[in-house]
Amino acid sequence: MMNMRAAILAAMLALPVSALAAGPILDTPVQDDWWQGGRAALDARLKIVNRPKRAKNVILMVGDGMGIATITAARIFDGQHPIDGRKPGPGEENSLAWDRMANTALVKTYNSNAQVSDSAGTASAMNTGVKTRIGVINMGQDQGAEACKTPEKLPRSFAEIARSQGMGVGIVTTTRITHATPAAVYGHVPNRDWEAADRAYPAADRASGCIDLATQLVNFKGGMDIVLGGGGARFLPAGKGGQRDDGRNLITEWQQRWPTGQFVGDAKGLRALAASANGPVLGLFTPDHLSFEHDRKDEAEASLVEMTSFALAKLAAGSKARGGKGYYLMVEGGRIDHAHHASNPYRALKEAQMFSAAVAEVLKRVNLDETLVLVTADHSHVMTIAGYPERGNDILGYIKPVRGGESDGALSKEGWALDDRGQPMTTLSYANGPFVARGLSRLLPPNDPNYLASKTYGTAGESHAGEDVALFAEGPRADLVRGVMEQNVIFHIMAEALGWR
Ligand SMILES: [Mg+2]
Ligand SMILES: [Zn+2]
Repeated sequence: MMNMRAAILAAMLALPVSALAAGPILDTPVQDDWWQGGRAALDARLKIVNRPKRAKNVILMVGDGMGIATITAARIFDGQHPIDGRKPGPGEENSLAWDRMANTALVKTYNSNAQVSDSAGTASAMNTGVKTRIGVINMGQDQGAEACKTPEKLPRSFAEIARSQGMGVGIVTTTRITHATPAAVYGHVPNRDWEAADRAYPAADRASGCIDLATQLVNFKGGMDIVLGGGGARFLPAGKGGQRDDGRNLITEWQQRWPTGQFVGDAKGLRALAASANGPVLGLFTPDHLSFEHDRKDEAEASLVEMTSFALAKLAAGSKARGGKGYYLMVEGGRIDHAHHASNPYRALKEAQMFSAAVAEVLKRVNLDETLVLVTADHSHVMTIAGYPERGNDILGYIKPVRGGESDGALSKEGWALDDRGQPMTTLSYANGPFVARGLSRLLPPNDPNYLASKTYGTAGESHAGEDVALFAEGPRADLVRGVMEQNVIFHIMAEALGWR
């Protein structure tokens, strides 16, 4: 670009205009951190390598309910409360693990019949390439319970295809292993609540012939190499530590099916296993969901990072034993969603921070020239980041506004922004959610882990949100992750990376 002054100068000197443009245009000696940092970030982008076009392994990582506002807030939270020995900072400048991944897209999450989606329909889209109705797992749009009688006509899941190709498959989650997101790796049901033969799956519905999700997991064709999460009660009979009313002990059945397999019921058991040993591993650490990270007892429950790390080692060893065939692993940070439903920002951000640590573990451990890593959310939540808090303000705290911007209005004596009833406002709030929840209270200071954030509409549970979510990618064919896309395209990108046509 040529400015007016240079053009006039060129005319005066009777030189071609281009002669003056040959020097550096951005030659202002800018000694400013933003300038230097911006230029360094651009230089890094110019060096992004094109990776090979064929992947051996695919890892899909889902932060359940991790909308973009949650990502931004968790990034600040992680910067203010780092867990890996870094010094705490203001937070806004911090990076989460996926912030360094070179490819991103916006993803449209609606279900085939719902503007604001749930985890069943969204996980189906990612795992089968087919969007479903809300609450439905891995069935065609026009298929109901009757379709359970013709399983060959159901959409096949990515894990089912991978297994049929001789690849390893695994699941890691912090929820019940039969909950919607992990269930879409292996199961097909017209109602996500049919997790077990229990009260949630009434006898009249069972007459349809659909099989409960816990049984489908144990029956998975070819077996799963590694399954780690919670939800053991769905596998055990009522009265014997479980809630099944059909008397079946699916853990015993799994052990009979896989004599070389190892079942572990606590973190100690997992830590005693060698990832290189033959045979599959099933680890169910709790009867229900795993604990939130804030409440986790380390001797009983493995952390998300620990489970992810073990699964990677297990699948890599299995891949070697199978003559280099790769694997498909789905990792879910499943309880970001649950903390949001309670409108408890602290636990939601803590769970997102742990999910980032699990992504960091994956990026550190795998060869990105042979492994496609995708990080996304299934849907968003109605949490927002609001007001004009000053830089470095506690992300969980009251808004301490910066003057001179767009903020005016009354302040408390502590300098907090007040609403029109004279109440201090927090940066994080929800469009809806419960005014009371067990063990949580809005009367606590907002940075208390049990603080319940404010909301506009009072509802039994805070809800999902319908805006697009982010998708981050690294590895072979990660370049296909760009622009705005439908959620079911994720399946097709994974298939393309493995050369499936
Ligand atoms: Mg989930
Ligand atoms: Zn939810």
